Amino acid sequence: MPSTQVIDEVPLLDLQAQYDGIRDEVEDAVNKVLESQYFIMGPEVSSFEEQVAEYCNTDFAISCASGSDALLLSLMALDIAPGDAVITSSFTFFATGGAVARLGATPVFLDINSATFNIAPNQLETFLTGCHPLNKKLSVDADDVKAVIPVHLYGQMANMEPIMQLADEYDFSVIEDAAQSIGSEYKSKRAGSIGHFGCFSFFPSKNLGGYGDGGLVTTNDAEMAKKLQVLRLHGAKPKYHHSVVGINSRLDAIQAAVLKVKLQYLDQWSEERREKAQIYNKLFRETGLTANNISHKYGEQKVEGIKVFLPEEIQGAPNAGGRHIYHQYVIRTNKRSQIIEALAEGNIGHSIYYPVPLHEQECFSYLGYEPEDNPISHHFSRTTLALPIYPELTLAQQQYIVQAIKGA
Ligand SMILES: *Cc1c(COP(=O)(O)O)cnc(C)c1O
Repeated sequence: MPSTQVIDEVPLLDLQAQYDGIRDEVEDAVNKVLESQYFIMGPEVSSFEEQVAEYCNTDFAISCASGSDALLLSLMALDIAPGDAVITSSFTFFATGGAVARLGATPVFLDINSATFNIAPNQLETFLTGCHPLNKKLSVDADDVKAVIPVHLYGQMANMEPIMQLADEYDFSVIEDAAQSIGSEYKSKRAGSIGHFGCFSFFPSKNLGGYGDGGLVTTNDAEMAKKLQVLRLHGAKPKYHHSVVGINSRLDAIQAAVLKVKLQYLDQWSEERREKAQIYNKLFRETGLTANNISHKYGEQKVEGIKVFLPEEIQGAPNAGGRHIYHQYVIRTNKRSQIIEALAEGNIGHSIYYPVPLHEQECFSYLGYEPEDNPISHHFSRTTLALPIYPELTLAQQQYIVQAIKGA
């Protein structure tokens, strides 16, 4: 990139640049499907499933129509029903909680670890021992808990070891919401390979994004794999014979063909995202605006001026066998609206993931949560800010972004 180039805008995500690099391969793959006229299930879909199972290091991969359906199908495979409770973190995309509520079960939203943005295992343990204030409020105890959905938010895996220990002790299933974390690692294990199920999304903006909706469930459990394969076809086995009520949720062959092309580049793209994150960290540190992580005390409210809290790699740190794939690069700041104004002025894309934690969503008001039930989620929904991150982002663009924030 010539240094003379003047930057005057940076989109939050630039999928056109990625497409320009793989256009010929994608068009060939899609044309092959068009020529075959094989659009539903078939060889493209099954070979893609085999490749993802290998990539995630799992025995089985069952594709479906979306990440949301991957969660729903996993819960259906576990026969989750009214009277059951399913625990997840409050600080996540709506689908994680929505899938639980759609089956009539009670979603239990617990708070997150302030450094990783992921479910805090100590919150989970407190809840399972019946000592959490939410036990009483929701009338839920450990016996009701049939599943826990740790969300690997922004590309970093949740602290899975204590969660799996608790799963053994309290006998519940673990469904990893890995929609933002395909290829992430925790103690050298891939996302989706540790829990009983791993749920992935191929929404276009995800790290492995299709050209439409798509999703997939990984599992090492042969029984569950069979059940998922039937549930996604209306519960039919054989065709037109239904012993269970399933849904219609399949990955299109055209999407599978596109995703097979992109899967070959995924590791390279993830490495490039990691590099961009390191560059942001360095540039931000040079501004002198960064603060230590004192978030567990919500100390930033008392910090003077604009302070930028950089995302931390805890479970995602390479020296711990981790791999954060930076689906998002999310900072926190005590002066978010001021920074947003500066970014908007510089035509810099940005977003808030997520402005309302699930325990504060109107549709869940029947559960009786109050904002302070999950104070970190509540607080982070008001201080987090996602900045542009993708493989094609240039150094000059990153400098431009950090300068804009410094200027604020
Ligand atoms: C994207 C996402 C989903 C849902 O995936 P869709 O394919 O959009 O249905 C679920 N959970 C998380 C954390 C996500 O980011």
